[in-house]
Amino acid sequence: MLHDGTQAVVVDPGDAAPVLQALKAQGLQLAGILVTHHHPDHVGGIAALRPHLRGPVWGPARERIPAPFTPLADGDTVAVLGQAFEVLDVPGHTAGHIAYLQQQGGTAPLLFCGDTLFSAGCGRLFEGTPAQMHRSLSRLAALPSGTRVCCTHEYTLSNLKFAAAVEPGNLQRAQYQAQCEERRAQGLPTLPSSIGLERQINPFLRCETPEVMAAARAQGAVGEDAVSVLAALREWKNRF
Ligand SMILES: [Zn+2]
Repeated sequence: MLHDGTQAVVVDPGDAAPVLQALKAQGLQLAGILVTHHHPDHVGGIAALRPHLRGPVWGPARERIPAPFTPLADGDTVAVLGQAFEVLDVPGHTAGHIAYLQQQGGTAPLLFCGDTLFSAGCGRLFEGTPAQMHRSLSRLAALPSGTRVCCTHEYTLSNLKFAAAVEPGNLQRAQYQAQCEERRAQGLPTLPSSIGLERQINPFLRCETPEVMAAARAQGAVGEDAVSVLAALREWKNRF
C-alpha cells in the first residue's frame, strides 16, 4: 500500500480483508488499484474492494484482469497520488506481466515488480520463456542501485537457501541471509530489497558470474550463455 495520509493505492490485492482493515485502521480512502499480472493471488480481492474504490483499477493490457480496468503497456505513465509511475513490460512469469517504476523517485525510486523479481529469486516461468525472463530481469537489474524492490511475496528466506546452494562462496549473500533470518525471527519483513543488493546476491541476476555458471553446468545447463544458465537455475529451483 502506498498512501499520502488521506488516500491510498494498493498493489495486487489478492485478498480484500487485510486491505479494508488497513484502510480503516489508518483512516484512508482507496484511490486506486495497481495490478501487475492476472494470477488469483494478485487480483482476488478486486471485486470486494470495488464498492470502496474511488478511482481506477490499472492492469496489464495483455492479460485478463477483472473488468473494468485501465489497460497499460510498456512506456505508459500512470499518475498515482500525485506521483508518476512508468509501466515496464516484464514477461516471463506470465505473458503480459508489467511492473511500475516511480519516476522522479530520487535515488531510491519504488519498483512494484509483482512476481517477476523476488529478493534472492524470481518467479516461476508459467507462461514465458527463459529468454523472456532473462530480458525482463536484466531490464530491472539495470535500474539505479537504490531502486526499492517491492515484490509481492515474502519468499526471501527460502530463496536464500537456494542462493546458498548456487553460490556457497558469496559472502554478501551469507551476510544478507543472517540479517534476513534475524528480521524474520522478529516478525519483520525483509522487503523492500534494493536493485544494488539483488545484483550482489540474487543468482538469477548473476547468470554471467563464474560460480553461478559452474553451478548451472553441474545441473545440466545446455550452454554457457546467460539464458541457458537461467533456464537451468529455474528448473533446479522448481525441484529444490
Ligand atoms: Zn503470479
